Amino acid sequence: MDMEIITVKDKSFKPYISEEDLQASIKNVAIQINADYKGSEPLFLGVLNGSFMFFADLLKSVDLECKVSFVKLASYEGTSTTGKVNELIGLSESIEGRDVIIVEDIVDTGNTLVKLHEILSKGNPKSIKIATLLYKPEAYKKDHPIDYVGLEIPNAFVLGYGLDYDGLGRNLSSIYVLNE
Ligand code: 5GP
Repeated sequence: MDMEIITVKDKSFKPYISEEDLQASIKNVAIQINADYKGSEPLFLGVLNGSFMFFADLLKSVDLECKVSFVKLASYEGTSTTGKVNELIGLSESIEGRDVIIVEDIVDTGNTLVKLHEILSKGNPKSIKIATLLYKPEAYKKDHPIDYVGLEIPNAFVLGYGLDYDGLGRNLSSIYVLNE
């Protein structure tokens, strides 16, 4: 069990959400999705890199017939008139007429989620819903509903279970918070 204060690069982190609590919240999300999508064949769309652990554990408790795919949101500088351009990489199949469930590690300001929604809507899916392991209501700046939430957390920097600090810490099996 990860119960110790840990150091990642130049920062110290303390235990915040145990593996048991994480797994219980994930089961809870799966129960809701199983009920809501009965008879449908949804497409679970994991947003890399952060969602990989949540995605795997969530899908183990989903008992629907479903498909899975992964995407990455890349942002690059366009021309001076277009400014920052967002591109979705990895989506090779059509989402037309599909029930899409976006699977995110964490929703903070909501910028990522809104951009993803905008891009995916152009593919004419039947529906788009969002499942996130963690949600920071104090930081959220959008009106967009968040359909499935594992756990709400205050506005602090967390690490582990897919979430990184400068690329590190994603392999931790529970969640840590910055020790300030
Ligand atoms: P948003 O677009 O909602 O502001 O941010 C979403 C992305 O920011 C997440 O997918 C994640 O990569 C990163 N992020 C937001 N809060 C945290 C946090 O507390 N810890 C880590 N490691 N990443 C975060």
